[in-house]
Amino acid sequence: MTPARLLLIGFDGLDYNLVQKYASDMPNFSRLLADGVLAPLSSTHPPITPGAWASICSGVNPGKTGLLGFFLRQGYSFVPLALQRTPAKGLWDYCNEQGISCGIVNVPWPGPLPQGVCFGITGRFTSLATSPPELKEDILQMGYRPEVHHPSEFSSLQGFLRFAFDQAEACTRVTKHLIEERTPKVCMVVYNLPDMALHAMLNERMIQRVYQEIDRNLGELIPYGERHVVVSDHGINITEGPVFYFGEWLVREGFLTLSDEQESRSGRENLGFFLRKIMQRSGLSFIKKMTPQFLRNLLPPGIRYPAFLPIDYSRTMAFLGPGEYCDVFLNIQGREPQGLIPPEESDAFLGRMASRLAELSRTEGHHPIRLSPSRDIYRGDLLDQLPDAVIQDPGSWHLEPGLYANGPLGPADLKHEHNQEGVFLFAGPALETARSLDQTALVDVLPTSLALSGLRIPEGLEGDCLFEACDKTPPSYYKTDLTRETEGIEASFSEQEEAEVMERLEKLGYL
Ligand SMILES: [Zn+2]
Repeated sequence: MTPARLLLIGFDGLDYNLVQKYASDMPNFSRLLADGVLAPLSSTHPPITPGAWASICSGVNPGKTGLLGFFLRQGYSFVPLALQRTPAKGLWDYCNEQGISCGIVNVPWPGPLPQGVCFGITGRFTSLATSPPELKEDILQMGYRPEVHHPSEFSSLQGFLRFAFDQAEACTRVTKHLIEERTPKVCMVVYNLPDMALHAMLNERMIQRVYQEIDRNLGELIPYGERHVVVSDHGINITEGPVFYFGEWLVREGFLTLSDEQESRSGRENLGFFLRKIMQRSGLSFIKKMTPQFLRNLLPPGIRYPAFLPIDYSRTMAFLGPGEYCDVFLNIQGREPQGLIPPEESDAFLGRMASRLAELSRTEGHHPIRLSPSRDIYRGDLLDQLPDAVIQDPGSWHLEPGLYANGPLGPADLKHEHNQEGVFLFAGPALETARSLDQTALVDVLPTSLALSGLRIPEGLEGDCLFEACDKTPPSYYKTDLTRETEGIEASFSEQEEAEVMERLEKLGYL
């Protein structure tokens, strides 16, 4: 068996603090670290899967990939980002340019599978496709499991975890097989496991079990690479904190107005709707079996999500995208069909909004929520595809986009929450001793990975080659375009494809 020169192993949601907490349960991770460098990897704002992986793979920020959350705005509606294309080049393109074969497994890169990969398997947000197409049959026969399931589809959390572990194991089996058979020089594989499992609100013992399983899969893959990068897009942990209902706050401040019909529906009615929907899906007996903690996760206490309710745009200044991240979109004259805010006043408006939010959330001795215009954080030609403002720091709050009858400030609750601290470990024989870096950025992963595998780095990427600090040989650079021709960012896709992505996002706990 010829190992890949570089094996880049991604774990969605591998949490820097949990890796340290469970270090003694992770012998394979520790073994890699003995010849490597470990650092917390600072994620996107908000720390969110699609945009973070896109920056890891492309070496540029969301303002240049055009990718951040799960959806792109089109007027007042949103389309799934998983089906869009980005003009940014990825790791595989830079390998290709240098005549190096690259295989990818389950990398959440949007749009169709990249051209020119040695082998490719799509990420979890779309239905299974492979490159070459005949690979699909082979990997399914090997037990590859592309399907996603919500925890409520299982009769117990243990059952859900068994599925998640089986899925990870099949991913390992297929990756090993493809490296053996197709001998790529570079291989990137991403596991869903940490993120998917933690979204199910596991207890402490189960989280420990998940980290042991992550390490077991890592150990199986280590012999299949000469040099290794272990990376995650963000951390995720289950923590207790007071809840801030962002949608409720927007409504009470007069920034967002729902249509009259929706305003008259009470929270209680809506809770009934949620209960009926879940009973329909899972059966009543399942609800009785659930632990109280798990139940809370599934049954928001009377929360309504404004992104899914009719909005009166003639009286709305700001609205939220779908999903749990409270991405803010402004209703701007000349840009939105019923725009209210003159474009030249949008900065001042966001400034007022951010100070009102900080003021209210600073009460009760909590760290305030920091809302920032996207243009203060990101830069690039595709900034207009991102939300107008994002939560740069949730302070000590759990953010919920929902409406809540008792007001925006809710009591403390346990919640699964993505955080800024992902993991970046790179290891190889050239690195003499283990050392640690204080902080690294998503955009550092690509240049560091290329240099680690002896490849040249494209000029103009935004990150640093961190390998430079640990090795005497300076990395070399080459000139190339960082973008490729696309037939426009808007891809065409069918309603069926869109429905499937939405279903997958819902089962993964993002909607
Ligand atoms: Zn993620």
